Amino acid sequence: VSGASTLTIADVGEFPLIARLKRRFEQPGSGIVRGIGDDTAVLRPRPGRLLLATTDALVEGVHFRRETTTPALIGRRALAVNLSDVAAMGGEPRWVLVSLSMPRETPLSFAEELADGMAKAAEEHGAIIVGGNLATALAGITVDVTLLGEVEPGRAVYRTGARPGDRVLVTGTLGDAAAGLEVMFGTLDVPAEIGSALVARQRAPTPRVVAGRAIATTGGATAMIDLSDGLASDLGHILEESRAGATIEASRLPISSSVRVAARLAGRDALDWATRGGEDYELLFTAPPAAVGRLADAVVAVGVAVTEIGEITSERDGVLVLPDATRVRLGGTLWRHFAANER
Ligand SMILES: [Mg+2]
Repeated sequence: VSGASTLTIADVGEFPLIARLKRRFEQPGSGIVRGIGDDTAVLRPRPGRLLLATTDALVEGVHFRRETTTPALIGRRALAVNLSDVAAMGGEPRWVLVSLSMPRETPLSFAEELADGMAKAAEEHGAIIVGGNLATALAGITVDVTLLGEVEPGRAVYRTGARPGDRVLVTGTLGDAAAGLEVMFGTLDVPAEIGSALVARQRAPTPRVVAGRAIATTGGATAMIDLSDGLASDLGHILEESRAGATIEASRLPISSSVRVAARLAGRDALDWATRGGEDYELLFTAPPAAVGRLADAVVAVGVAVTEIGEITSERDGVLVLPDATRVRLGGTLWRHFAANER
């Protein structure tokens, strides 16, 4: 924690702290009839839009450790995981509610830097913080964010629409965040410049809001999800909801040079990070072959890489085709949240 101040939030008190945070969050914005300061925010969605609502919390000791990140990055990340969900619907982020619980001895500077990180991340994606709540925690910080967004009724992209013959596409690269987590925890030893690139992807994921919007407005995508838990797990959700299967070509998976080099130097399998590693927050979507070209063009036009990695099948199972043509099950949908708390 930076700053010379040793003031804690208990020294400042709840209402002065709310006043401080309110000043950081308060900014004019469209659709806000009443912002922070009344019993609720009063919001006006644009005529004819559907309201998207999502919530996700970061819990100290589970999703972050104060020793391995900064308050601003925690705030940014709390926003990013929610922005990513709105992106995966093809929507536009609009309004944010934040519920913060912190122990009394939390430094004031920590709360303020966290708030700054959140406010900046929201602003970068066209969203505004319109309300929140402060609570005292006995131990550990929890940052609970609710994000509201909007989408035109015909443009929302659900998990349910993938059909056999559709192609499977993914933005960006896969596995960087999982490798970065290992660097942070000291289980992956790589040269500093590679390590810091991977750690940056883990600590400061870029929600693909603009790409998701480009996909939705271009039209033709049949299903979409953001990769929070990893390719195998999240593609599994689309397959489940769409009652379909998929064949994914391992040789086509977009894997960054950082991940490839890290795998080679450490004697690890880059495919393992790319298929099972979570927290990349890229978008996975499906589309019939005739729509793939214009969708890919639309994503590239907003500065995001996109790769076709496989095809939807009628087999009700995810299959990974390895470079030697071996076919393995892309299942393993068990996820780490419910295993040991490893972060
Ligand atoms: Mg999601």
